[in-house]
Amino acid sequence: MGRKFFVGGNWKCNGTTEEVKKIVEMLNAGKTPSTDVVEVVVSPPYVFLPLVKSSLRSDFQVAAQNCWVKNGGAFTGEVSAEMLVDLGIPWVIIGHSERRLLLNESNEFVGDKVAYALSKGLKVIACVGETLEQREAGSTIEVVAAQTKAIADRVKDWTNVVIAYEPVWAIGTGKVATPDQAQEVHSELRKWLQNNVSAEVAANTRILYGGSVNGANCKELAAKPDIDGFLVGGASLKPEFIDIINSAT
Ligand code: PGA
Repeated sequence: MGRKFFVGGNWKCNGTTEEVKKIVEMLNAGKTPSTDVVEVVVSPPYVFLPLVKSSLRSDFQVAAQNCWVKNGGAFTGEVSAEMLVDLGIPWVIIGHSERRLLLNESNEFVGDKVAYALSKGLKVIACVGETLEQREAGSTIEVVAAQTKAIADRVKDWTNVVIAYEPVWAIGTGKVATPDQAQEVHSELRKWLQNNVSAEVAANTRILYGGSVNGANCKELAAKPDIDGFLVGGASLKPEFIDIINSAT
């Protein structure tokens, strides 16, 4: 089984109803390869999920940006995996570095969320990545492996998991990892999966790169053997997202 190219658009905490409608129009008009070639998933804020789901072209899918680990109850402000399933949302992003860092989500909590979301039938984009301090200290692989281990400890079936490697220093900074820097971590991550999960999971699990991906740098990154797609922030709100999707071919 080959690893189908995957492009995710993480809209983060952006957009008004009018802006969201315009982004959807832009996406719907874009010329992109078929779903045999590329899987495209866009992730608006919770409140826009129904609007985007109902107006987005049918070959693109929708993801939430987070979800909770229990069904219902006294968890003010949270949205459960079950609610996403109820809305027909197939995907969820878990463990984005902004949540790990700003909201103190630990590796274990992220692992619990991934396992819970999968158990409810959601597909998961699980994010990992080191900070600048960690990279400069030479602990990139160690950090990314520990984040992945917390997921692997809790997940048996990896079919519905996509990993997004997003170095924190490259997110929203315009400072993209070089194709070689990204390839090195992707390859190490795949080796980690091979040694600690299975050869099959290592061969089949898509590892996306995220962090200042844009229309100009996507081709060179996409050409690397272990880069199976992208998780795109800023550029996913712009027409160049279509160019990034087209880097699949
Ligand atoms: P960026 O964000 O593309 O704006 O750097 C990527 C992400 O946080 O997923």
